[in-house]
Amino acid sequence: MTSLKTGVALIICSPSGGGKSTLISRLIRDFSNFSFSVSYTTRKPRPDEKHGREYYFVDRAEFEGLIDKHFFAEWAEVHANYYGTPLQAGLDLLRSGRDTIFDVDVQGAEQLRKNLQDSISIFILPPSRQILEQRLTKRGSDDERELAVRLEAARQELIRADEFDYWVLNRDLERAYEDLKSIYLAEKCRSVRNRELLRKVLRTWEK
Ligand code: ADP
Ligand code: 5GP
Repeated sequence: MTSLKTGVALIICSPSGGGKSTLISRLIRDFSNFSFSVSYTTRKPRPDEKHGREYYFVDRAEFEGLIDKHFFAEWAEVHANYYGTPLQAGLDLLRSGRDTIFDVDVQGAEQLRKNLQDSISIFILPPSRQILEQRLTKRGSDDERELAVRLEAARQELIRADEFDYWVLNRDLERAYEDLKSIYLAEKCRSVRNRELLRKVLRTWEK
């Protein structure tokens, strides 16, 4: 278990189309101390995605080579593609004091929770199957078969939502964002994360 005395590790998970990317990009925009842990994937990039920003896009042979080298903190096969979180890059961010977001599926969240002490895990809940389907259709990045796979995977993931510290219902985007922000801000104030602050205050009593 890696002991982290610095940045907050925020593990954020939701079924595909649940609104993670939208909510995460707002957090990163509003809080300058946030970094995003960029995963590796064998999925093809979507039109607006950039190598090194949303993901590092690699082929299966390269991904499997990285698995063999123990490059990943966790990896999983999701919707028939590999996805993996690089270990060293995440640790470097956290140790340098950056609050770091890990966008992973439920399998990844389970592994990261074990490996990152004091991490917080948040599950973004879609309001219903119908709304999730509408959002995925509107996003337009999946064909019909892919859409069916993602909807079935969503049900499987929802069954495991109990494993998470917090749930955020993403019906109204503004409300969901306020909830997410509140969780983050409350976590920043936890006594265990602020030992130095108390020491500093107490030092002002010393002669
Ligand atoms: P994820 O990253 O979890 O796959 P996205 O953030 O890409 O999900 O959201 C999927 C789609 O749903 C996007 O088109 C996004 O704009 C839209 N969306 C997200 N949250 C809401 C919301 N609360 N109300 C309406 N549309 C939303
Ligand atoms: P998408 O293809 O829609 O970007 O992501 C599909 C799923 O893979 C999402 O649930 C997303 O959270 C998950 N995912 C993205 N990166 C990782 C990762 O590094 N590890 C794991 N386990 N899942 C990931």
